[in-house]
Amino acid sequence: MQTVVTLDELRLARARLVGPVGLVPTMGFLHQGHLSLARHARQECASVVVSIFVNPSQFGPQEDLDKYPRDIQRDLEMLESCGVELVWVPTNEVVYPPCYQTWVTVEEVSKPLEGERRPGHFRGVATMVAKLFNAVQPHKAFFGQKDAQQALVIRKMSRDLDFPVEIVICPTIREPDGLAMSSRNVYLSPEERRSATVLSRGLFQAREAFSSGEREAQKLVKVVLDTLATEPVVKVQYVSCADPDTLQELEGEVERTLISLAVTVGKTRLIDNIIL
Ligand code: AMP
Repeated sequence: MQTVVTLDELRLARARLVGPVGLVPTMGFLHQGHLSLARHARQECASVVVSIFVNPSQFGPQEDLDKYPRDIQRDLEMLESCGVELVWVPTNEVVYPPCYQTWVTVEEVSKPLEGERRPGHFRGVATMVAKLFNAVQPHKAFFGQKDAQQALVIRKMSRDLDFPVEIVICPTIREPDGLAMSSRNVYLSPEERRSATVLSRGLFQAREAFSSGEREAQKLVKVVLDTLATEPVVKVQYVSCADPDTLQELEGEVERTLISLAVTVGKTRLIDNIIL
């Protein structure tokens, strides 16, 4: 496994890789969710490239950029054991040289949900992923369903800007008690960590209601809200029942839907979702 920092090093190393090339973009502090993407890439591609970059432009001024967890040595060991060929660990200066001023904005699908609570977040994500696609020129790129809106934003950007990349969305990997894996879970105190299981319990309750024939959007949302309300430390930002392709909020009877939520548990913001 080769680790590179500069764009020149990356391009040289990339040129030597056998195709098809799979790309897994990450912000590091890797867990089994990230590794599942790398393993999917490993299965579908001859070479796997992973990027590790805590992208400042996708963090708001009040967010956790400075304290975002980092452990590059551990990340590299984990990637090595997955059989990854190439890891790109750029610095801020490599990605955003002085006087940087070009941004990618995906309009409608960036607006609701996370876009509303995290202004500028998806502009930062889309710009970074566009730069990664140009730098790495992958045949396939792998993203997690955990960040459902991000996956939609990237798919839209890729189609609209004609990137010759297949976007592959991989299932959410969860802890044995249901909590979706996230680098931010380390922020949780032991008590908050126990309370945080209510996110997946709420979503699974909605799935059970759906399986039992409940189709009313508001009722599915209420099932989730009622479950979340059993943990007072969990403060709800939103619970949404939306069209899984457009993210338009649904009312009345639904056939297929993305139920997504964002909460804070103490000072930690967590998101999760499920497709019904
Ligand atoms: P991040 O490092 O949080 O930016 O995540 C990098 C990639 O890993 C994104 O495509 C995420 O959607 C994906 N990812 C994060 N957590 C999980 C998870 N629990 N299961 C599957 N994919 C995940």
